[in-house]
Amino acid sequence: MKIDVLTLFPELFDVLKSYSIVGRAISEKKLEVSAVNIRDFSDDKHGRVDDYPYGGGKGMVIKPEPVYSSILSVRSPNSRIIYLSPQGVPLTQEKVVELSSEDHLILLAGHYEGIDCRVIESFVDEEISIGDYVLTGGEIPAMVLIDSIARLLPGVLASDESYQIESHYNGLLEYPQYTRPRVFMGMKVPGVLLSGDHEKISLWRKLSSLKTTIVKRPDLISRLKEGNSDLDELWILLDRLGKR
Ligand code: SAM
Repeated sequence: MKIDVLTLFPELFDVLKSYSIVGRAISEKKLEVSAVNIRDFSDDKHGRVDDYPYGGGKGMVIKPEPVYSSILSVRSPNSRIIYLSPQGVPLTQEKVVELSSEDHLILLAGHYEGIDCRVIESFVDEEISIGDYVLTGGEIPAMVLIDSIARLLPGVLASDESYQIESHYNGLLEYPQYTRPRVFMGMKVPGVLLSGDHEKISLWRKLSSLKTTIVKRPDLISRLKEGNSDLDELWILLDRLGKR
């Protein structure tokens, strides 16, 4: 997969590209990330890309021409163009899974008061938000998207199971995790996890996943999709608990 980020601050992506799972996905050639400087497409001799908003008001707006030119510089017939915006649809794991099967993503990061809406309306396929709050720029949201996608690309994590058991993959939160020591400040690791009985461990994890979700995010329970066979046991439990 290739991801091009259109930004005023391309150097911010150097760290993301060098470390951890994203860095590994790039060095193993499973992912290619390029940060394109929108300023390179300015026709102003000082490289300015922003101007005052029509109608007055404080703050500056990114002009449409350099954004349009930067899109054209990377766009291909199979590109999906996403504008990171607080006005977009909030990002979910379901959306991340969907995007992870694309060949080419173009992520547009705004700044200041945002981008002239004409270029957004004409060339952007969708707007994605990382939450109902406002950040200074779209760079951190673009990084959130890149990180969440990279870990789903085939072969990036040790096994597909690594992300399939994680929170939000099947609509639930993950069960609690423990590592050594067996006893920490008097708190013991649940005995079943030390039993070596894989069936019992699997059942404990399913129940704990359900319990964690009910306690921490009860709103997720009502969003579980009917017909998801992985969740059959959980439906039975929910019925018993009267939570459905
Ligand atoms: N004036 C805009 C508004 O009220 O909708 C907010 C502009 S914000 C200060 C500047 C840029 O940060 C936006 O163009 C967008 O790219 C990015 N941004 C801010 N909050 C975001 C969020 N929650 N999700 C995704 N991108 C966001």
